[in-house]
Amino acid sequence: MSGNLFVISAPSGAGKSTIIKALKERIEGLGYSISHTSRKPRGNENDGIDYHFLKKETFRSMIDAGAFVEWAQVYDDLYGTSFSSLDEQTASGLDVLLDLDTQGAKNIKKHFKNSVLIYVLPPSLDVLEKRLMARGTDDETVIKSRMKKTSNEIKQCVWYDYIIVNDDLEKAIKEAQAIILSVRCRTDQQAPIVKEMFDVSFP
Ligand code: ADP
Ligand code: 5GP
Repeated sequence: MSGNLFVISAPSGAGKSTIIKALKERIEGLGYSISHTSRKPRGNENDGIDYHFLKKETFRSMIDAGAFVEWAQVYDDLYGTSFSSLDEQTASGLDVLLDLDTQGAKNIKKHFKNSVLIYVLPPSLDVLEKRLMARGTDDETVIKSRMKKTSNEIKQCVWYDYIIVNDDLEKAIKEAQAIILSVRCRTDQQAPIVKEMFDVSFP
């Protein structure tokens, strides 16, 4: 039995990492797909926990070997979801969270029609810029160049299954939890458990 896939995307600074961290802590049985990337670790990121960090050449040879379900170039680096990282989580029936850009989300939906795509929006572009400044992880030129691309990036939210506007953080986390928990309560998801409990056959 394989679990559900939940993809979360957002423009940089919208609060995606903060929401994902809370979901990992609060939702039982939720796995996380650790991506591969050619970018260098930042701050207190750990190899094998936040990402599998590797050299660009190694990443490219993995592409050639067909190791990725999806991969994309984001800014100047390569990011990808490997079949093995995903299989590790889904094989045991775990639901899996994936933190992907919009190209990755589109490709996952192509491969897995039942995957659930969630887009996190900031309440405004001004607030987004202020959050990036306050986070203090990127210098001003990087922030300005990301902000230029943001309006276009946000347009991609139209084909996602769900949109969360992250104004009040707690409300946004609750909305993300609600999406995941409601998918788990769908009739097709509950059927195996209900069949064991009661004499019911599903069409
Ligand atoms: P992303 O992963 O989308 O780039 P982060 O989760 O790193 O974004 O959030 C960017 C910054 O905004 C962080 O400093 C985070 O603490 C802060 N933040 C996230 N959500 C909110 C919110 N609802 N209100 C205020 N600040 C927030
Ligand atoms: P960051 O470098 O800030 O961790 O991530 C930059 C962007 O790459 C984010 O939008 C993030 O969602 C995306 N990303 C991370 N891992 C993957 C992946 O495996 N595939 C794709 N397509 N995007 C990814």
